[in-house]
Amino acid sequence: QLADSLYILNGFAQKFFSDALFNTEEGQDIGLSYLKERGFNEEIMRKFQLGYCPDQRDTFARAALAAQYNPEYLQKSGLVVLRDEKLIDNYRGRIIFPVHNQTGKVIGFGARIIRSNDRAPKYINTPENEIYVKSKILYGSYQARQAIDKADECLLVEGYTDVISLHQAGIENVVASGGTSLTIDQLRLVRKYTHHLTIIYDGDNAGIKAALRGLDLALEEGLDVKLVLIPDKEDPDSYVRRIGAAAFRDFVAANKKDVILFQLEVALKDAANDTNKKAAVVNQVAETIARINKAEDFTRQQDYIRQSAELLHIEETGLHTLVNKYIRE
Ligand code: ATP
Ligand code: MN
Ligand code: MN
Ligand code: MN
Repeated sequence: QLADSLYILNGFAQKFFSDALFNTEEGQDIGLSYLKERGFNEEIMRKFQLGYCPDQRDTFARAALAAQYNPEYLQKSGLVVLRDEKLIDNYRGRIIFPVHNQTGKVIGFGARIIRSNDRAPKYINTPENEIYVKSKILYGSYQARQAIDKADECLLVEGYTDVISLHQAGIENVVASGGTSLTIDQLRLVRKYTHHLTIIYDGDNAGIKAALRGLDLALEEGLDVKLVLIPDKEDPDSYVRRIGAAAFRDFVAANKKDVILFQLEVALKDAANDTNKKAAVVNQVAETIARINKAEDFTRQQDYIRQSAELLHIEETGLHTLVNKYIRE
């Protein structure tokens, strides 16, 4: 009952914000011109149902109340907040990115400030509620699912605008995590469509650590994880815009690293000539390899043992024994 009402309210809000973006003077002058300046075309804005929330107290809240929406649900949805006993719009003056579930219903919103400043957060997202459960959401999964199926690969980026820019460049098998480490539910969502996951994050970012933190879970889910690092100070949105769609595809193809071997290389560099550290690295990689779902992918496990032993300059059989020890545990 409450869930149904939230879906209906979000649908109403999405239409309100899109209408404000395309059909009001303020929306066009501020929202639309911002999005166009960033290089988004109207077709892609409509595909992702982008919108704009007027920069006034309660334009949306009044419209929703006039349409008989329940004030309690309005607050639960995060669309309005109570201030001085009045309901006011939470996303005033922001670009609106609706978030859809697998069936295309709007479950929540991301709202971006137009001119960044130090006082307000760049993005405001819907608070957790009955239908917006952050740990289960991958932004863009509704728009991407057919392309993921067709490519048998899911690209993972950090942000809303990364997803939309790549779509506009014709790369549609892409979803976003919001920059946090992946949860088991998000990994299972990917796994429904493909077992090939390619993480495309900024190279200088804490996002890499977040990506590696989710690695063990991903392996246990039977996912084959690759990593592409975007050059310094760029993200997929800015990079694809700068170098173009074809060059971006080539870059991804040429820089795709296996995430297990990447992690091993990073750890080895860190260990340098310290034999104790190196022993720990051997144990760590054996443990990681042991997590690969063996029933599903026996040869993959063998390949990793061979390649890792080579990188470590150790005997393959020794590593094999160690992996088997972790499998039995
Ligand atoms: P833009 O290109 O519009 O600046 P972005 O996606 O590049 O956006 P990042 O700073 O790289 O922005 O953040 C990546 C993602 O992390 C965002 O798309 C958003 O989902 C989330 N995020 C960023 N800042 C915040 C914030 N202050 N609160 C909540 N989520 C945030
Ligand atoms: Mn395959
Ligand atoms: Mn960006
Ligand atoms: Mn970014």
